[in-house]
Amino acid sequence: MARCAVVGSGLGGFVAHAALRHAGLEPAEIAVFGDTADPAAPWRARAAAIRQRRMRSESDGHCHPASFPGLAAREAVRLRDPLPLLLSACDRYRPTVDAFLRHVEELRERSGWDESLRPGRVERVRAVAGGFDLDGQGVFAHVLLAPGHPGLALPEELAGDPRAVHAYEPHEYAARVAVVGAGMAAATEWLNALAAGAEVVSVRRREPARRPLNVARPLFSKRGLAAFHAEPRARRAELLRSFSAPSYPPGRAWDEPLERAAREGRFRVEPAVNGAEQVICATGFRRGYEHDPLLRRLVAEHGLDTEERWIVLAGDCTVPALTDGSRTLALAGVPAQWAYPAADTLVGMKYAARRFARKVVSCPTR
Ligand SMILES: Cc1cc2nc3c(=O)[nH]c(=O)nc-3n(C[C@H](O)[C@H](O)[C@H](O)COP(=O)(O)OP(=O)(O)OC[C@H]3O[C@@H](n4cnc5c(N)ncnc54)[C@H](O)[C@@H]3O)c2cc1C
Repeated sequence: MARCAVVGSGLGGFVAHAALRHAGLEPAEIAVFGDTADPAAPWRARAAAIRQRRMRSESDGHCHPASFPGLAAREAVRLRDPLPLLLSACDRYRPTVDAFLRHVEELRERSGWDESLRPGRVERVRAVAGGFDLDGQGVFAHVLLAPGHPGLALPEELAGDPRAVHAYEPHEYAARVAVVGAGMAAATEWLNALAAGAEVVSVRRREPARRPLNVARPLFSKRGLAAFHAEPRARRAELLRSFSAPSYPPGRAWDEPLERAAREGRFRVEPAVNGAEQVICATGFRRGYEHDPLLRRLVAEHGLDTEERWIVLAGDCTVPALTDGSRTLALAGVPAQWAYPAADTLVGMKYAARRFARKVVSCPTR
């Protein structure tokens, strides 16, 4: 009999499942609702579309419930080579996508993930006596929602334009390509298209910032997070907005190919899409709970507190109005940004997952 439910079977749901198993629950005590059996499937498709070969995250970007050992230590053992550990010590280790996917596959096998899966989508979460009713598929005292991003964002003016493809959808490169956007996916696409021999126009409204991570590094620490939680609501929303401004990491690996291509007349910046053969929209995802039908309905039916595009959460990623000593409703992944600005990272998913698992095991009514 399941004691708790996870809605969403992507990496956020997978990390939560691993944390619940680590806290002592059996696979049969966890119900995971979702439309993909492979937890890496949604992520894999997007990463493959932009030809991502290395993770954006570092050694701690994994799905195990305990932080240590990270991927660097595991790779060092597997390869019998200390180099991953040495690189990790100076924050320069980026695991390969293959190593990450291998780790997901191993953990999927070992954790009994497939035994917990209940294929299908959940359309409605309703607070009832004793917990939450999920579409009539059962009442669960503890529920974690990890639905991921609510779809890809395409500029309105390009909707229906046959030249347009989203960067996170499969595509090749034409001879003359315009890339809309200026964040990490756009920067990756400039280099991909140049390497494929294309002439590239970068279409951007503003100059990207150059920083290693979208979210400032101190916000991954206890202290930085406490300061964020102490900010007034309007300031918190302002900070979250600033983290979604376009940025990509500094460094020669990005700059040199772009400078070379600019000298050769194969790379330039323009304010609008002109006569390009292909338009790649590196414009990320739709933003905000209102774009997700499950979350929009949850907010409307329960009168939940929101600030701009975010659902207001407690510091532990729970929904305060629907969480008490006997039941828990928590969010993980991008909808949990109010509690943890880097919620859409593996480290952020673990933050939400560990706190949820603690609530489940400490509940007296189990
Ligand atoms: C290209 C790319 C590279 C990235 N690289 C890194 C990285 O290197 N390191 C890092 O830490 N992070 C990285 N991220 C960020 C993060 O890890 C991903 O966004 C990750 O896929 C988020 O996992 P998720 O489970 O929240 O969402 P998803 O992976 O999108 O999974 C959500 C799942 O829930 C399902 N679902 C949605 N609604 C419902 C419902 N109502 N009922 C049932 N199921 C539902 C969806 O169909 C989907 O299967 C990257 C993101 C992108 C796009």
